[in-house]
Order: sequence, then C-alpha cells, then structure tokens
Amino acid sequence: MALNARGKQAASAAKAAGVQALLVTHLPDVRWLCGFTGSNAALVLITGAGARAVLFTDGRYTTQANAEAVGTKVVIAPKSAVLAACEWLAEARVVRCGFDDGNTTVAALKTMRAAIPAKVRRGMFEPVGALVSMLRWVKDAGEIAALRKAAALGCRLFEGTLGSMQAGMAEVTVAAELEYAARLAGAEAMSFPTIVASGERSALPHGKATTAKLPKRGFVTLDFGVVLDGYCSDMTRTVHLGRASTAERTAYDAVLEAQETAVATVRAGVSCGDVDEAARSVLRKAGLDQWFTHSTGHGVGLEIHEGPRLAAKQTQRLEAGMVITIEPGVYLPGKFGVRIEDMVRVTAKGGEILTPSTKAWIEL
Ligand code: ZN
Ligand code: ZN
Repeated sequence: MALNARGKQAASAAKAAGVQALLVTHLPDVRWLCGFTGSNAALVLITGAGARAVLFTDGRYTTQANAEAVGTKVVIAPKSAVLAACEWLAEARVVRCGFDDGNTTVAALKTMRAAIPAKVRRGMFEPVGALVSMLRWVKDAGEIAALRKAAALGCRLFEGTLGSMQAGMAEVTVAAELEYAARLAGAEAMSFPTIVASGERSALPHGKATTAKLPKRGFVTLDFGVVLDGYCSDMTRTVHLGRASTAERTAYDAVLEAQETAVATVRAGVSCGDVDEAARSVLRKAGLDQWFTHSTGHGVGLEIHEGPRLAAKQTQRLEAGMVITIEPGVYLPGKFGVRIEDMVRVTAKGGEILTPSTKAWIEL
C-alpha cells in the first residue's frame, strides 16, 4: 500500500536524516500519520524504494485499527507492539532505523535492541529527534477546522462559567461545572487539569483548582481546554471579583496590552523570539517583566503543548498554518496574578484569534 501524504512527508524527512526506516511510537505521531487512536501502537515507515507504513498493535484493537488506519497495513502483535515492530524490522533486513529519542524510554530502547540480531544491533537505532512531531506543527485545513471547533467550545464554556461564578464557591466547583458542561457539549476530555486559581493563588501560574473558596475581592484565573476530535483547545481569562485595587488594575491592563501587542506581531516569517519579546517589552515598560516568569506561548494540536515554543531568543520562524497560544502573565507571590491566553492561527498576513471571548476588564 502506498504511503499517504503525511507518510510521504515523514518518510522523506527520515530519508534526509540518513535512515532506511523510522520507528514511530509517540501516540500523537502515530495518530497523525495513520489515523489510529489506540493506546498501544508502533508504526514503521520504510523510506526510499518500496516506501510503506506498517502499524503494529495488539488484539484489543483489531477492529478499531483496521477501521481507523485506512490504507495502512495492520499487524496484530501477540504482546508488545514495539517488540513486534522491531522483529519485523530485523526480518525486513533494515540495518538503520530512526527513532524519537525524546519520546522513547530507556526500557523501550532495551526492548527494541533485544529484538535485533547482535551483529547489526550496534548501528541499528539512530536518534532522529522529534521528526514527526515537528511536521505536525503546521496544520492542514482539517486540523484547523478541528482546532477552531474546540476553541469555539472553549469560549462558550468560559462565557457560561462567568454567569455562575461567585464569592464563596470552591475552585473545584467552578472546575467541575465547567468540565461537566464541556462533556455535555461533546468534549472527549479536558486538554489538561482545569486551572482555577483565585485570590493569592492566582499568583501560581499552574494553580490547579483546589477546595479554596473564591474570595469576595480578588482575581480568578481560569485556564482550561477541551479535546474535540483529538484536537486540544487552550485559553485563559482572568476576571476580578469585587472592587480591584489600583495595583491589580494596572497589572491587568499591562498584561492585556502585552498579550494584544504579541498577537499583533504574529505573521508567517516572524521569529518566535520576536513574538515573545513583543509581550515582554510591554511588561518591561510597566516595570512588571520580572514577574513574567514563563514563555509567551506554544503550539497546540493533537497535544496541548507542541512546538514551536514562543520563548526568549527562539530563532524558529512562524509558518502559515501553525496554531499557537499567546499567554503572557504576571505573578506577584503572595499577592495576585494575571494571565490572558488566546489560540492564534498563523497566516501569511497575520494572526487570527480562534478564542474571541472578551478580554476586557470584568468585575463580577
Ligand atoms: Zn492554557
Ligand atoms: Zn497554553
């Protein structure tokens, strides 16, 4: 069976890396390449002459693999999919096979090597890095549509949550209501554990919802995402309960300006470092940059955190079709924090916000 377009892309990248075959075990990569969504899978791509793909999985997935991985040969392995894939590589007399060393455990590499005859084992497995994951950075029209749908659901959920949030409510209750509404609306899962960080806890960039009660006066940061058709959404809004102090309002306005300034720089060809600097420079002017302790954003797709990374000095250039987040924040320990995050589609002309929920100051 001939390779599909994504398989061809990956095979030619692997060939350029100097290997005869590529062993793909990172599940989002397997899914992207052949459509299979099961939890035990290894995909072998043969590069060059006779280029083809073979998917290995186990007996629980016989029906599913054949239904999902249309156009890919499916082999049901008695035990480990990776082991079966490597035994197959040995039989096919492949002597140089690439693998993603960033997504392969020491134990898995041991299993891989054990399946290869001793005389060719030494030069067999060549680390080629996140070769397939990097191809996933640029989304095709179908993926953009899926991300758009997930992002739009995220916006509806945020707007619904605003209506029910009030002082005295536990953070976990806010998260539970949001997640229940997400599942009722068809979400397969949340992209990651929902962040509801209120009052002083808003100064924790990754404040997972706890039993803490929303304060009468203070910020609430909501950072969450849903998974639809395998694609993740990701957005953050920070709202204020009760009257804000001048310091809180000043910080919010600075973060919003930093976020909007960074979004305005997004365009194919611009470096990720320049987008990060756009956000950082606004906060520098406001004297708040020392409290902006993380990078400006990340790619999002089948995984919640993908490349490219939008961080200081990153020379990687944005390309049309990438979908990234722009999420500057400031966190004043023991006081408060603010973060605002959108998903943005990169085009030749600029950036399109996929999460258009309001970012204007909200006082509940
Ligand atoms: Zn987020
Ligand atoms: Zn994010």
